[in-house]
Amino acid sequence: MSNLTKKYYLETLGCAKNEVDSEAIEVSLISAGFAKTDDVGSADLILVNSCGFINDAKIESIDTALYLHMNRKKGSLLVMCGCLPARYNMERIFKEVDLFLPSTNHNQLVPYLNKIGWTKKTGEDSEKRVRPRYPYGYLKLSDGCDNRCSYCAIPDIKGVFYSRSFDEIVSEAEYLCQNFVKELVLIGQDTTMFGLDRNDKSELPKLVNRLVRIEGLKWLRIMYAHPAHLTDEIIEVVASKDKLLKYIDLPIQHISDEILKKMNRKIDGKGIMNLIARLRASIPEIVLRTTFIVGFPGETDNDFEELLDFCEEVQFDNLGLFKYSPEEGTLAFKLKGRIDETIIEERYLTLLDLQNKISKAKLDRRAGKTELVLIQEVDDGGVAIGRTWFQAPEVDGVTYVDKPDMKPGDMIEVRIKRAGAYDLFSEPLKEE
Ligand code: SF4
Repeated sequence: MSNLTKKYYLETLGCAKNEVDSEAIEVSLISAGFAKTDDVGSADLILVNSCGFINDAKIESIDTALYLHMNRKKGSLLVMCGCLPARYNMERIFKEVDLFLPSTNHNQLVPYLNKIGWTKKTGEDSEKRVRPRYPYGYLKLSDGCDNRCSYCAIPDIKGVFYSRSFDEIVSEAEYLCQNFVKELVLIGQDTTMFGLDRNDKSELPKLVNRLVRIEGLKWLRIMYAHPAHLTDEIIEVVASKDKLLKYIDLPIQHISDEILKKMNRKIDGKGIMNLIARLRASIPEIVLRTTFIVGFPGETDNDFEELLDFCEEVQFDNLGLFKYSPEEGTLAFKLKGRIDETIIEERYLTLLDLQNKISKAKLDRRAGKTELVLIQEVDDGGVAIGRTWFQAPEVDGVTYVDKPDMKPGDMIEVRIKRAGAYDLFSEPLKEE
């Protein structure tokens, strides 16, 4: 047991689920007597919570670990945790890292630190989460995935799908809302499957009905909904609950039946079109975010044209776009018909260009309208930066509010003055 307070430095890469996992690591370190530092050079313990989803992410994780290694102090411990060590055995090849902790073994960190005498008793109970820095918080509903989309390595990285307990999620939500959070963002590999693996009748609509009753909560947002699992019950609860934003993140990945089948997305083009029609019939103002993959093996010019026409017709509000990344160990890795990189790049830029025009036109139509903005931060120039209900944290644009003396967590009615490519510029509504 050490008397000195050891300091930790933590770098989080990848998705919002990794951010929640990093918080759990921080909570365990703080209750083991560690203090946080933002200076890697003075840290005793250096952690990188890595991502192993696709090639670009893997390269970023390795580069980050090497950068941290080059800036560490003598006698410090460098730990790579998260998805990359869950996917690959890296001990033999990556000597710069002292300890690898796959995402399923993060709970072994403190026992290891205890064994080397780096922990100390604090006598304090550990908090449920790290005190929120922003007025929004991610709520992880589950981990793992059973959907086995043919291009995706996550089921091999995170294992089978399992939902967290209803009560655990609710008490974490209460903690966040008692500590500055106004918006809760529901995440998981597939949030629409929540509770279906448990025999305690948990399910997403029931959880939503409970969460919207939490005091202090203003906004609730559903991300990572799977189109094959978005039921009419879930649509109904989105339509009926005021605090549940009329916003859905619905990764669709493609629209061509041939490609959807090869991707093992469990729904065809007609099913997706019907779903969007049902959503818009129940919730006319619904804001849709989605993601697509271009360049999947066997994707013909016609398949891609079909995708362009689909985006033109549906007019998504926000879109994440990926180039197909061949991942060894996935079913798609063995598929014939790999597309040439230059064609993938061309399709990527073509769809991006189309979506930029669609998003810009939609944002322009918001000019002159009044909206409620949740202030997230105030920049050095005193400009308040926030988001409206149709802007999800970290993935969509923001709204700038031209009003001094705002502070994070404030919610203010504004008039949208104009739109940029992704962001909005606004002024507070004049007091009548
Ligand atoms: S739903 Fe598909 S893409 Fe998403 S994590 Fe599961 S297997 Fe991967």
